[in-house]
Amino acid sequence: MENSKELRNWLDEMALSHPLVIAGPCSAETEGQVLKIAHELKDTDVNYFRAGIWKPRTRPGNFEGVGAIGLKWLQNVKKETGLKTATEVANKAHVDLALEHDIDLLWIGARSTVSPFIVQEIAEALEGTDKVVLVKNPVNPDLSLWLGAVERLYKSNIKNLGVIHRGFSSYEKSKYRNIPEWQLAIELQTKFPDLPLINDPSHITGKRDMIFDVSQTALDLNFDGLMIETHCDPEKAWSDAAQQVTPKKLVQIMEDLKIRKETDEEAGYKKDLSNLRAQIDIIDNQLIDILGKRMKVSDGIGELKKQKNVAVLQTTRWNSILGKMILEGEAKGLSEEFVLKMFKAIHQESINHQEKILNS
Ligand code: PEP
Ligand code: MN
Repeated sequence: MENSKELRNWLDEMALSHPLVIAGPCSAETEGQVLKIAHELKDTDVNYFRAGIWKPRTRPGNFEGVGAIGLKWLQNVKKETGLKTATEVANKAHVDLALEHDIDLLWIGARSTVSPFIVQEIAEALEGTDKVVLVKNPVNPDLSLWLGAVERLYKSNIKNLGVIHRGFSSYEKSKYRNIPEWQLAIELQTKFPDLPLINDPSHITGKRDMIFDVSQTALDLNFDGLMIETHCDPEKAWSDAAQQVTPKKLVQIMEDLKIRKETDEEAGYKKDLSNLRAQIDIIDNQLIDILGKRMKVSDGIGELKKQKNVAVLQTTRWNSILGKMILEGEAKGLSEEFVLKMFKAIHQESINHQEKILNS
């Protein structure tokens, strides 16, 4: 992936005036359902019509997809509406069938990206294809696993590549179905700025009411496109009913989204921006300086504890610091989530420092 610029070609060739849009139902259910949705999406911003044919469900017994017959329905979607088609593939048999049915975009699902065996099998089955292939992030927040999958495909001579950010599962309760962990997508974007990056707000949120906000965040972060599950009768969908939106709602979302430009050449803007960035640089240096000072104090505490043979971790003291800082943070417009994360990291660094002293 030395020359990641070539990875952008398939997207740039489309010369879109808006982010790339992939929309359609979570699952193809009946031919009528698929065609109805596709016709409603026909004259909108949608570029690719998606539908899951083979559905990986966490527990058996739920609807597991209609199988290969659905590929014929997707061919009819293309014939009747001109929309390009997209589906998920999870093994070589899926790939062969999807290529036979001229599916334009194939994506690798989050449960497949975690397995280098499966990704390798798919990469070999796709060898040299000019179809678009998108890799969803793995279910666990592991950037190298995600990148590894992209590299396997690239090595198989597949150049029309991209990635889909669909969030990460977590044991902790959260308002998201899959926590976005935006920093991972940003890190990937920084490493490969030309690798098209699509956001999937449907699987991140799990709830249709939250889709707009997550989509806007993605566009603010310079994502190249969105994949949004769309169904004419979302409540009655056979899978992922809570997160699908109607075609009408999708059009509304696209209309309301503010599409940000990557940059602006106007002199005033550039001057203001560089002024603000200079201030940020100064503050960042101060932050590092003050954190260094805090650790020095913490080292002093470590020395004291060592003399008296006292344990490093003092839970009551720690809980009272956290409670106070959350309140202080709130007053300064900092979210509880951020303050907690930041102080957990500071506390861990403190513990590491003190342990070093106690064990020296
Ligand atoms: C899907 O897009 O329908 C899907 C199953 O997604 P994921 O692999 O992200 O769970
Ligand atoms: Mn789904």
